[in-house]
Amino acid sequence: MFLTSAAPSCLSKTQAFLDREHKLLIDGEWVSAQSGKMFEVKNPATGEVISSVAEGDAADINSAVAAARRAFEGGEWPSLTASQRGKLLWKLADLLEENLAEFAELESLDNGKPRAVAAAADVPLAVDLFRYMAGWTTKIEGTTIPISVPYMPGAEFHSYTLREPVGVVGQIIPWNFPLLMAAWKLGPALATGCTVVLKVAEETPLTALRLGELIREAGFPNGVVNIITGFGETAGAALAAHPDVDKVAFTGSTEVGKLIVKAAGESNLKKVTLELGGKSPNIILPDADLAAAIPGAANAIFFNHGQCCCAGSRLFVHKSQFDEVIDGVSKQAAAIQVGPGMHPDCQMGPMVSQIQQDRVCSYLDSGLKQGAEAVVGGKRVNGGGYFVEPTVLVNTQPNMQVIQEEIFGPVVAAIAYEDVEQLVSDANDSIYGLAAAVWTRDISKGHQIARRMRAGSVWVNCYNVFDAALPFGGYKQSGWGREMGYEAINLYTETKAVTVQLQ
Ligand code: NAP
Ligand code: MG
Repeated sequence: MFLTSAAPSCLSKTQAFLDREHKLLIDGEWVSAQSGKMFEVKNPATGEVISSVAEGDAADINSAVAAARRAFEGGEWPSLTASQRGKLLWKLADLLEENLAEFAELESLDNGKPRAVAAAADVPLAVDLFRYMAGWTTKIEGTTIPISVPYMPGAEFHSYTLREPVGVVGQIIPWNFPLLMAAWKLGPALATGCTVVLKVAEETPLTALRLGELIREAGFPNGVVNIITGFGETAGAALAAHPDVDKVAFTGSTEVGKLIVKAAGESNLKKVTLELGGKSPNIILPDADLAAAIPGAANAIFFNHGQCCCAGSRLFVHKSQFDEVIDGVSKQAAAIQVGPGMHPDCQMGPMVSQIQQDRVCSYLDSGLKQGAEAVVGGKRVNGGGYFVEPTVLVNTQPNMQVIQEEIFGPVVAAIAYEDVEQLVSDANDSIYGLAAAVWTRDISKGHQIARRMRAGSVWVNCYNVFDAALPFGGYKQSGWGREMGYEAINLYTETKAVTVQLQ
């Protein structure tokens, strides 16, 4: 269902932000790209240019890394107490919350997602993440370790560990949750005392830049957070390859993730964490409550237009219930109100860009050509923006691209199964291992399948449940390391073992 009535205009403060000159945040100052270049930011609901931002490249990355290094090595930041760092993070969360409506509009205009979803999910989750990480600042502890040292009989020692910030961190993020991905990255880095150069996605630079303003307002020392807008092949690649960056944290495609690893290896063996793609199985067992599982399966794929790394893009349904479930999910898909994210009734906006719309549609074409059938959807929506119809595919085969590859759009491929043993192996048959879900009334079965899934997150009778306290990340080619939770804190610290011989 496509919304035809016009979307309302944005708040005057949102418009004022769009109209501002957008520069790079380096060493606490907004500066132009050294090349002087800028690039346009488009509203994917209309294709119209809504703003323009500086095009940072390797030269700007060099300045930003130097600023981050200075801030890490000396001055105010390293001398702050853990509690003071926590207060800054809490203050940032408060400022973000105060400006929630503006952030939700910017996210909607830049990324395409419904304003209402950004206001209910993206922004509050980012606020909560900063508060959660503020709490960790005072709880990053080492241990005392009894040691024996067999070749020094009689000697006495006191050994302990310190957890120290890993250093200057390069962070590279994608466009699907622009503000939230910035928060997932900045939160643990700042909680642990690292300094950051953040390279945001070219498609969606706006909320990170607004966040940069709030970072200054909160009172973070200069150079602690540097924000570079620009392109992956130039700014992103320079950050991953920079010899003075101690860690790179990347979220994006598995393909680019491999380039990041290569660049890290060939430069200075910087630490690497990666949050990559997915092709997550969503399993409905025959005893599931279909009244919950059917809308759950629709939400699993259609939330954020399917532009979710953990989208439930392979739906496994028992043969005996296949028609009923597919009919139910298709009805849900057909009822989704597609339109500009700023429209108050919008439930699904456009793909983020023309490139993404073309990419999703070429997957649809390949699936349909190979014999898959679209029960609902299956094509782009003609009009001003980059819309794709919510789509349910059946008659798929395991070797089809639509089953093997991440589409990153509102397309679910439904697969009928008969045997539960075979189901588990088929569900795990992917190069990815980011998420999985199972719907069942038999809670033991739910736990058993959860144990057998080769995935970093498993949801039972729910989907897309995220929390700042829950670690998130992938098995297999879905990534290295975890975001959020204590695991993220660990990945932004180095462990130092200190041993004192007692005289
Ligand atoms: P992408 O093409 O890999 O881009 C991600 C980021 O990397 C962007 O900032 C991009 O810059 C930059 N980049 C591109 N080429 C680079 C290079 N050679 N060196 C360094 N940086 C480079 O991914 P995307 O299409 O924006 O995002 C979708 C992907 O992200 C999907 O695969 C999705 O599953 C994954 N994702 C994973 C998670 C997770 O937590 N596991 C979360 C969200 C998304 P440009 O903007 O200029 O291209
Ligand atoms: Mg690019």
